[in-house]
Amino acid sequence: MIKSTFRFFDVAANLTDPTFEGIYHGKRKHPADRQQVIDRAQAVGCDKFLVAAGNLPNFVSAKAMYQPGMYFTIEAEIKSCPAKQLVAIGECGLDYDRLEHSSKEQQLAVFPLHFALAERYKLPLYLHNRNTGKDFFELMEAHRSSYSGGVLHSFTGTAEELKRALELGLYIGLNGCSLKTKENLEVVREVPLERLVLETDCPYCEIRKSHAGFEFVENRPDMKNPEKSTGETPVRGRNEPARIVEVLEAVSRVKAVER
Ligand SMILES: [Zn+2]
Repeated sequence: MIKSTFRFFDVAANLTDPTFEGIYHGKRKHPADRQQVIDRAQAVGCDKFLVAAGNLPNFVSAKAMYQPGMYFTIEAEIKSCPAKQLVAIGECGLDYDRLEHSSKEQQLAVFPLHFALAERYKLPLYLHNRNTGKDFFELMEAHRSSYSGGVLHSFTGTAEELKRALELGLYIGLNGCSLKTKENLEVVREVPLERLVLETDCPYCEIRKSHAGFEFVENRPDMKNPEKSTGETPVRGRNEPARIVEVLEAVSRVKAVER
């Protein structure tokens, strides 16, 4: 893993994921290595993490692994804000690529409830949008008075969607999924630096060899397959916060800005 003089805040670190316990699709493949993952992140200057807690049980496990530098989101009703580390409502939004988890109708019924939570708790939104045509932005625009702002994480939208997100005052979260195609790279070039935030969305969204952004990555860590993992190196196919360095390398080179 490379040394870096940068400081990072990974705004999409799903550290409650079972793969950080060594469990993949319900099967144990290696010992838990979450602490080693966090240590590796800190070694490259990534010492702040936004952990999306999708529901209450998730939030309980997120709180159980709390350590300084961790911040959380929540998407369910909260009786009282349990910690100052709770910084956003979410992950919420719409995703029509994964209708097997939740139908369009369910998603459209639940998304507006998050605007009410954002308004009640005066917290920004932590947002996700995939392939939803005009639905996502129409709802965001209709409820604009309910929320102060937010981050549209794992952004893979078009130039037009970027424009609408910026008009809503949102920050744009970029990771490996944002660097998949040539068209993605064109949009990344247009994201203003003052609205751009880096993330890994680990364990998902690594910059794969097949991605258009891969050629801009300078430092790939040595990785081991899950079955062979001893915790000392990143696991092949599982993204982790230390690899935010790859996102920085690719995004800065795509945008031709100094880092
Ligand atoms: Zn997401």
